[in-house]
Amino acid sequence: MELKGFKTDTIIEPFRIRSVEPIRFTTMEQRKALLSEAGYNPFLLKAKDVVIDLLTDSGTGAMSAKQWAGMISSDESYAGSESFYRFESAVQDITGFKHVIPTHQGRAAENILFTTIAKKGDVIPSNTHFDTTRAHVEHNGAEALDLVIDEGRQPLTIHPFKGNMNVEKLEGTIKRVGQDNIPVIMLTLTNNSGGGQPVSMENVKAVSKIARSHDIPFFIDACRFAENSWFIKTREEGYEDKKPIEIAHEIFSYADGCTMSAKKDGMANIGGFLALNNDKLAQDCRSLTILTEGFPTYGGMAGYDMEAVATGLYEALDEGYLKYRIRSTAYLGDKLIDAGISIVQPTGGHAVYIDAKEMLPQIDPLEYPAWSLTNALYLIGGVRAVEIGSVMFGLQPDGSEKPASMELVRLAIPRRVYTQSHIDYLAEVVIHAYNQRNELKGYKIISSPAVLRHFSAKLQPLDQ
Ligand SMILES: *Cc1c(COP(=O)(O)O)cnc(C)c1O
Repeated sequence: MELKGFKTDTIIEPFRIRSVEPIRFTTMEQRKALLSEAGYNPFLLKAKDVVIDLLTDSGTGAMSAKQWAGMISSDESYAGSESFYRFESAVQDITGFKHVIPTHQGRAAENILFTTIAKKGDVIPSNTHFDTTRAHVEHNGAEALDLVIDEGRQPLTIHPFKGNMNVEKLEGTIKRVGQDNIPVIMLTLTNNSGGGQPVSMENVKAVSKIARSHDIPFFIDACRFAENSWFIKTREEGYEDKKPIEIAHEIFSYADGCTMSAKKDGMANIGGFLALNNDKLAQDCRSLTILTEGFPTYGGMAGYDMEAVATGLYEALDEGYLKYRIRSTAYLGDKLIDAGISIVQPTGGHAVYIDAKEMLPQIDPLEYPAWSLTNALYLIGGVRAVEIGSVMFGLQPDGSEKPASMELVRLAIPRRVYTQSHIDYLAEVVIHAYNQRNELKGYKIISSPAVLRHFSAKLQPLDQ
């Protein structure tokens, strides 16, 4: 008899665990007290009081033995370290950009870019600006304009590339404000604030063509470039036989530069970079790097951080890893859909986004339904998620409040950290919350800072 092989690669984690961290369990009574002490803001909880931490996939991944090995043998020289050159050549190899400026994380790259190119009255279009990106654009007096396609704002509409930019609106914007008032056009890959949805190669090309025809620089917010490359491979015609790294090369070839948080698809715990082709702009950005980050061959990172990123960027592009990564996120999404819960569909790359507006119609958007659900997940099962809704985006630059376009709860999956049984537990907690959805109440904000208020605001349940 001929034995048949088994398709291991489609169903199990493509790694084994050699170093473990304990998880501390808490009771619901303890969590009630802990959440109240944290001002009903999950950002202010202590991590040791969280059972499954899905606050973010940023910097929370597990590193590989190969990354740790590189870190041990790093070069910590202030200027011109070997670790910098390894980092620089990995970034150049993958992106093709000429100049590589290391930064301590993504927002530092944004700060340097927008401080250098944006000024009051400018408009910066994107598919959807991430919260730190928007904050940096606005901090420099410019307007952050989101031009994602309509499907990208409709959680339940199925579309393979819901992160795409509406190119007619982009052209309309250029006509309306004039190309001289648009210092850069951005595309966020994948579209984090819009459900982790990918952008198609066709759309990248179309945006690039418009940008080039108007002499406007085109930059990519590349935090999840590897996940986006995987979606192109699996969803866009003509790419099924290409390697993720070849797809990444093509994406970057249409752009003039990128900002990157290496805490995402850099597979590192800290780090980032700004990479670009223009010599003059690179020089200006390097001057600011020295002022705010450090000498341009370390830019806020230790040599060992640069080693971790140099290796991590390639690991993020590994086919076996990407297949597992996207599949395990979809596995959670499928369980919630089967239970009747509305999530942004199709499931995104790094996270499942629950549609709290749909689940909790009894809570007004300005009483923060997604925040309410986030807190319920913590109380019920010690799960920490994050609101992407009106607490995060409702405060306008003039101080007024406006409901966000969506009220989402993001369950962000750290890379290579949780096993399938953790994911099963998670699904059960969310379903448990869903079954009690009529009991959930809104919240009010009792104190908050003026910028990025969700990180430190204090809230109170409306029934207290
Ligand atoms: C995380 C993130 C950033 C900012 O990066 P940090 O490393 O957190 O500063 C920018 N854009 C997107 C899309 C992100 O996901």
